[in-house]
Amino acid sequence: MAELPITPAPLTDEERAIYEWQTRIPDFGEEGQERLKGATVLVSRLGGLGSVVAYELAAAGVGRLILAHAGNVRPSDLNRQLLMTHEQLGKPRIESAERRLHDLNPRLEIVPVAENISEENVERLVGEVDVVVDCAPLFEERFLMNRETVRQSKPMVECAMYELQAQLTTFIPGESPCLACLFPEVPPAWKREFPVFGAVSGSVGCLAAMETIKLLAGIGETLAGELLTMDLRDMVFRKHRISRRAGCPVCDA
Ligand SMILES: [Zn+2]
Repeated sequence: MAELPITPAPLTDEERAIYEWQTRIPDFGEEGQERLKGATVLVSRLGGLGSVVAYELAAAGVGRLILAHAGNVRPSDLNRQLLMTHEQLGKPRIESAERRLHDLNPRLEIVPVAENISEENVERLVGEVDVVVDCAPLFEERFLMNRETVRQSKPMVECAMYELQAQLTTFIPGESPCLACLFPEVPPAWKREFPVFGAVSGSVGCLAAMETIKLLAGIGETLAGELLTMDLRDMVFRKHRISRRAGCPVCDA
């Protein structure tokens, strides 16, 4: 895909020292790091997937994260939502997330949004970012972000998991299928609450963060046009070709 229009931000000496081990990657280098610093990413929901995506993006030195998640930390979040801590039980998730991320990277600019993605905020939030990472548990939110990222021509990294299975792809408007090509309707088996190990959501979260870093820095090959499915019970990873659906009401309108 064409390089994303990101204005690179010059690094300080402190940042050069912190990111030294990744700027040694030849096709990434200091130029890639400056692109990450100049970038903004929206992570929708900070559950088992989004917590790890945001943590890895903060560690990698993405300059600005817009984080959207409503509600308070519950005991049942703590087996996988790694930005939530025991002492924050009963308090807003977004505060816990902000604190944890700033402990790791105080240079990170965080825009905390104590709401989930909705018709009211989706256009504005997608409009502010270079890449969207979709970690929402509700398909209605996923469809909203899909429609808006196609409309604004922004890439969206799409990750999902159930029990010990997971999947990941990247949607690039104009080049790859969109979410509505893959799922014209909410999949009947999709559930709001689902069995999960944190190690499964965390694995996919790390891979989604890597897709995002590649998109921002303009390195490697993304999963655009392919769906990576992972069965962690048997450790079977497969890539499947996916195509645009003629007459898709979102991307072929
Ligand atoms: Zn489509």
